[in-house]
Amino acid sequence: MKNYVLDMTDNQFKTTAKSIIDENYRLSQVVKWIYEKKSDSFENFTNLPEELREKFSERFFLRALRIISKEKSKVDDTTRYIFKTLDKKYFFAVFLSANGRNSVCVSSQIGCPVMCAFCYSGKVKFTRNLSRGEIIEQVLQIENDTKKKISGVLFMGMGEPMLNFTNVVFVLNSLLSNKEFGIGKRHITVSSVGIVPAIKKLADKNLGIRLALSLHTVDEKRRKRLISNNFSFKIEDILNAGRYYIEKTNSHLTIEYTLMKKINNSSADAHKLARLLKRHKLINSNVNVNLIPFNPLVCAKFQPPEHESIQKFKDILRFNKVVVNIRQAKGVDINAACGQLGDIESIL
Ligand code: SF4
Repeated sequence: MKNYVLDMTDNQFKTTAKSIIDENYRLSQVVKWIYEKKSDSFENFTNLPEELREKFSERFFLRALRIISKEKSKVDDTTRYIFKTLDKKYFFAVFLSANGRNSVCVSSQIGCPVMCAFCYSGKVKFTRNLSRGEIIEQVLQIENDTKKKISGVLFMGMGEPMLNFTNVVFVLNSLLSNKEFGIGKRHITVSSVGIVPAIKKLADKNLGIRLALSLHTVDEKRRKRLISNNFSFKIEDILNAGRYYIEKTNSHLTIEYTLMKKINNSSADAHKLARLLKRHKLINSNVNVNLIPFNPLVCAKFQPPEHESIQKFKDILRFNKVVVNIRQAKGVDINAACGQLGDIESIL
């Protein structure tokens, strides 16, 4: 049986490949072809003798995903890809370009078990975790397709990354490794709905990457209605985990807050959010709040607040010395904005 190279750690690959080559310089050449040159076929490994290339092809394969659809936004550079897996499952990834940086927003699961009430991805039945290789391959294939060097990765696509912890940590190590992707830790962000034990575990790994916590409300009862009970940790515990994360890693924390009319956008909500952040010592230059006006295309049940209300929410936070931005959604016309990555069947 052939092995999927991208599913293997550096050491696993070296051990398995030892039966084909045992010179270190040859192994380094192979790793370069895979990660630096993003080659999708052993045929292309031209500095390897043909006999070795054949042996690799007999023993390993390099791609497990196929791009089956690609849609580019007319309003910005955002491109949404649909991938098909070997077991015929579908999921999204998105290419984003802003401020001279090209990034990929990757999916970590097929469907999402958390099923947030306001998110399209949560409406897709959870099937399985994506493997290490299937997450890495999204970056490799999008870089190949766009011909643009990828220098940022966001775990904000389909799925809750902290529920696929082992594979996500494998991928993070690969993205950070200078022998593989060599992406700077400040340009990698993992987003989580607040799976507290996993966030603490990630903090203890001290990888230095950025963390985004999707809070979305300051009211416990409301949060339980927005985010399924099984995965809805207490707001206090999530913020404690956030502080633990920045203390351990000296990295950056973003609090994501999707603003929905008459749900979580009152002045009282803004004041309470500021008080909560203050109490948890989360008002400092390592923390910012992203306000995301809800996109009504996602779900008719919720509406975005009026512009004045969004501005007022922001002003209250700013008055309380919170670093706050209103996030402009990217690729809205192709349903590639956050929380819209889900309605695959309507596109196929
Ligand atoms: S917001 Fe995130 S955790 Fe919630 S359903 Fe969507 S993808 Fe899953």
